[in-house]
Amino acid sequence: MTFNCLPPTIVFQEVPNEISLCFSITGCQVGCKGCHSTELWNKNFGQALTNTNFQQWINKYQGLISTVLFMGGEWQKETLIEKLILAQNLGLKTCLYTGENTVNDEISKHLNYVKIGKWDPTKGGLNSPDTNQKFIDLTTGNTLNHLFIKKGIQHVAA
Ligand code: SF4
Repeated sequence: MTFNCLPPTIVFQEVPNEISLCFSITGCQVGCKGCHSTELWNKNFGQALTNTNFQQWINKYQGLISTVLFMGGEWQKETLIEKLILAQNLGLKTCLYTGENTVNDEISKHLNYVKIGKWDPTKGGLNSPDTNQKFIDLTTGNTLNHLFIKKGIQHVAA
C-alpha cells in the first residue's frame, strides 16, 4: 500500500512552542467540505515515504526541529506507528493532525499532541473560538486551543 507524502516542510505554528518537520500524507478520505488541500485526497500523489527516507529527512534537520508532525496518515496505522516510533527514538516529540474525531489508541500512545476534528468552514480552524476542532496535549490531557487564538483580537459573534 502506498504511503506517499508531499516534500516535508518546517512549520512553527501548527504545534505551539515547537519547531516541527511536517509530513503531509496523501490518501485522505475524510472528505471535509471546503477542504483547502484536495491534492491530499489522491493516494498516488507525492513521493513514497519509506522508513529509510523518513530517517534521512530527520537526520537532515536533527538539532533544528523538536517535533515531527503528520498531516494525516492514520488510515495506515502500522506504517504511521513505525514512523512515530522512529521519531520518538531520536528524541523528538510527535503530533498528528487528523480530520477524524478520535484517534486509534495504538497510534495515540505514540503521540505527544493531536489535532482532531473535520474542517468546517462555518466554524473555522484552531484559531477560531467557534471551532469544532481540538488540539490536545496527550501528555497532560489538556486542550491547548487557546494558544492558537491571537490575543487582543475580540471575537464578535455573527
Ligand atoms: S482532513 Fe484535511 S485533507 Fe482531509 S479532507 Fe479534511 S481538510 Fe482536507
